[in-house]
Amino acid sequence: MPRAQLQYMSDELQRLREQGLYQRLRVLESEQLPVARFDGHDVINLSSNNYLGLTTHPKLKERAIEAIKKFGVGSGAVRTIAGTMALHMELERKIAEFKNVEASVVFQSGFTANAGAVQAIIGPEDVIVSDELNHASIIDGCRLSKAEIKRFPHKDTDACERTLKEIAGRRGRKLLITDGVFSMDGDIAPLPQLVDLAKKYECVMMIDDAHASGVLGRNGRGTVDHFNLHGRVDVQVGTLSKAIGSLGGYVCSTSDVIEFLYHRARPFLFSTSHPPSVAATCLAAFELLDEQPQLVQRLWDNTRFFKEGLKKLGFNTGASETPITPIIVGDAALAHQFSRELFQAGVFAQGIGHPTVPVGKARLRTIVTATHTCDQLSQALGTLETIGKKLGVV
Ligand code: PMP
Repeated sequence: MPRAQLQYMSDELQRLREQGLYQRLRVLESEQLPVARFDGHDVINLSSNNYLGLTTHPKLKERAIEAIKKFGVGSGAVRTIAGTMALHMELERKIAEFKNVEASVVFQSGFTANAGAVQAIIGPEDVIVSDELNHASIIDGCRLSKAEIKRFPHKDTDACERTLKEIAGRRGRKLLITDGVFSMDGDIAPLPQLVDLAKKYECVMMIDDAHASGVLGRNGRGTVDHFNLHGRVDVQVGTLSKAIGSLGGYVCSTSDVIEFLYHRARPFLFSTSHPPSVAATCLAAFELLDEQPQLVQRLWDNTRFFKEGLKKLGFNTGASETPITPIIVGDAALAHQFSRELFQAGVFAQGIGHPTVPVGKARLRTIVTATHTCDQLSQALGTLETIGKKLGVV
C-alpha cells in the first residue's frame, strides 16, 4: 500500500494507463544494432541515435578496453579536483580541432552541457530568445539561469527579429539559442538568418548540434560547417552519445569561454568526469570520422532511400530534412498503438506524444543509421505499410 503522500503519482500512472499513454521501458538484450533484440524480440531498430553504427565498432571497443586496462574503470573525482585525466584533455583538443574552434570542454552528457553552459553564460538580468522547439536541456538551462525567456515560433526568423527589436534597448546580455537539427521533427535551423540577427542585435549566438554532429557538414562537422558559418556562432554544443556512439556532451567556443565554463559550469564543477574508457572511445570515434567519410555518406544514402519510401506510401513525414523522420499520426493513443503493433510485427519505431511533442502532433519517430541494409529498410517499409493501412494512418 503506497504512503498517502505518494498516492498522487500512482493516480497519475493509472490515468496514463486508461488513456493508452502508459509506456513500459523496452529492454535491449543485444548490442545496439540495426536488428536488435528488445524484450525477447529481434526487431528492425528504427529508434536509436546510433547514426553511424559506432556503438559497436571494433576500433572503439578495443580503445575502451585498452583504456580500462591502463587507467581503470573510473576517474575518481570531478574535473576541477583530481578527475582530469590526460585522455580528457586530448579529447577536448580533438573536438576543438574537428569543429574548427579554439577550445572545447566535455561534460557528462549533452543534457548537462546545454543546461550547464546556458546557466553559466546567462544570468537573471539577461534575456534569452529561444526557438519554441528547442530541446528540454536548453529549456532547463534557460530556467536555471533565471533570465527572462522569450520563445519564438519554430524557425520563424521574422518573429525572432520582432522579439529582438522589442528588447533592443534593454540592459543585460542577450542569448539567441537554437537546436541545429530539431530532435522530434528532423528539420534544420535557419542558422544563416539567425547568425545575422545575432550580429545585428548584439546577441551571444548558441547552437545545440546534438543531432547534427556526425550527420551534417564535412565528415559530420555539424550545422555550422553545413552552412559554412565558421567563426559566426559563439557557442556550439554537441553530444558524444549519438553519432559518436558513446556518452557525453561538449561545448565549443573561444579559449576564454571554455576556461570560464571550467570555473562556472555547475555539472563540470560538481559531477565526476567520464571514465577513461569513455574518453578513449570518443577519441577513436572522431578519428574514424576523419578517416572514413563514407560513414556519413552511407547514413545519407539510407536516409534518402527510407524517406522516399515513406513518402511514396503516403505517410506524413512533416518537415524532416535529416535522418530523423517522424511519421505524424496526430492522436497519441494511435501513435502508441501503431508503435506496439509494429513491434509485434518486427519493427521498432517509438511512439511519441505530449509533452515531448505538442498535443495533436503525436508520431512515430524513426531514425535510420549508416549500418542498416537496403533489405532491412525495405522490410521495415513493408511492415509500416501493412500496419499503417490496418490502422487507417495511410
Ligand atoms: N540536445 C538534443 C537536441 C537532444 O536530442 C539530446 C538527446 N536527447 C540532448 C541534447 C542531450 O544529449 P545526451 O543524450 O548526450 O544527454
